[in-house]
Amino acid sequence: MAFVILDPCQGEKSGECVTVCPVDCIEEGEDQYYIDPDVCIDCGACVAVCPVDAIVEEYDLTPDQEIFLEKAEDFFANR
Ligand code: SF4
Repeated sequence: MAFVILDPCQGEKSGECVTVCPVDCIEEGEDQYYIDPDVCIDCGACVAVCPVDAIVEEYDLTPDQEIFLEKAEDFFANR
């Protein structure tokens, strides 16, 4: 399991999540930040600091939010 950053990050990109992540698995993309789902340890620290509540647990994704997990996987696969 992993946490996933959704579209409220787009246009906000405040980046507090990067500072608090204990495993350094959040990176800045062109349109938003992304969490590496293979590295995330599911600690939830990033959720508490996001000013736009953009971060959710993979388990809680709705079907139309699944694209954001796929975007994160593509981002880290194509770096
Ligand atoms: Fe990093 Fe924890 Fe957020 Fe995963 S849940 S991205 S490990 S701060």
